[in-house]
Amino acid sequence: MANIQKVQDFLVEHSIDAALITNPDNIFYLTDFRSDPHERLLGVVVFKEKDPFIICPAMEVADVKAIGWNYDIIGYKDTDNAFAFLEQAITERISSFLLLAIEKQHLTVDRFEILQSRFPSLQFANLDEKLASCRLVKNEIELEHLRKAAELADYAIEVGCNEIAEGKTELEIVQAVETAVKQKGAEKMSFDTIIVSGTKTASPHGIPGERKIEKGDFILFDLGVVYKGYCSDITRTVSFGEPSEEKRKIYETVKKAQQAAIDVVRPGTLAKEVDLAARSVIEEAGYGELFPHRIGHGLGISVHEYPSLTGTNDMPLEKGMVFTIEPGIYDPSITGVRIEDDLYVTEDGVEVLTKFPKDLKVIG
Ligand code: MN
Ligand code: MN
Repeated sequence: MANIQKVQDFLVEHSIDAALITNPDNIFYLTDFRSDPHERLLGVVVFKEKDPFIICPAMEVADVKAIGWNYDIIGYKDTDNAFAFLEQAITERISSFLLLAIEKQHLTVDRFEILQSRFPSLQFANLDEKLASCRLVKNEIELEHLRKAAELADYAIEVGCNEIAEGKTELEIVQAVETAVKQKGAEKMSFDTIIVSGTKTASPHGIPGERKIEKGDFILFDLGVVYKGYCSDITRTVSFGEPSEEKRKIYETVKKAQQAAIDVVRPGTLAKEVDLAARSVIEEAGYGELFPHRIGHGLGISVHEYPSLTGTNDMPLEKGMVFTIEPGIYDPSITGVRIEDDLYVTEDGVEVLTKFPKDLKVIG
């Protein structure tokens, strides 16, 4: 439970009495306990000086024990008031309870108001930044899981390409890809799979549907899997039939931009320099207006986490960070193209975790 210690150190450093962590991704990071509690309360409470406890639905107590949690577990039934249990467990452990660290980006207003009503004099501190920065740098075990997740994502693209055929719908290909990766050990997809065709590729977050694939389409795959709790995220765009010259030019521009961004990644490079390296290639080719999003995002237990690679982020890259690089050009009258890889920052450069080839693939 080395990561719990990081939270405890933070509480000591800032004289905060306790922290309540309810974001399931953060709970997994701190305890190795992985659960989606839906609307039920699942929380880890860490104290400045006392041992932590987990509060969870009674039906999950055995699962918490199974991960090797050595501290107290407060289980409650659906007929119990979970917050009454939480209040009692906290007040049993500490007499002075003035300042509580919470995840402001995650805790709902409803729960915040319940806490306020149960502890009227309580003040709140924010734990989001601390946990996000703890999760920035991956250790060897995390890296192994991320490598495997990336390998499964490569396999998913390969399956997807092999499924392309005249008249097949986008959803039929989604189904085939997801079945295949689960057979290889993917626990679930890291987000809803995007497989879109034709001018639908011009929507960066397009939704697959019953559109039938036709010769001349570009087909965009954006997908990822979860392996042992860690996410991958890959995008490839392929051509079904010979592409027009304009489409090929768009593709080659995105490919060049992506490589330009990968080439600047090493410890010490600023996040914004990665974005600008790709953006300048796209701007020089005259497509600047058609690249409306940041170059990438961190990747780990969550499919979007720190670092955020925007054109204004001054954060220097460090060894151990994992993130995507995913430039795109989206012309609604022609096509969209995006190419996305997952990268790990090494001692002196970069390891690209996703390896599916990026030369324009022409199918059929
Ligand atoms: Mn993606
Ligand atoms: Mn992404």
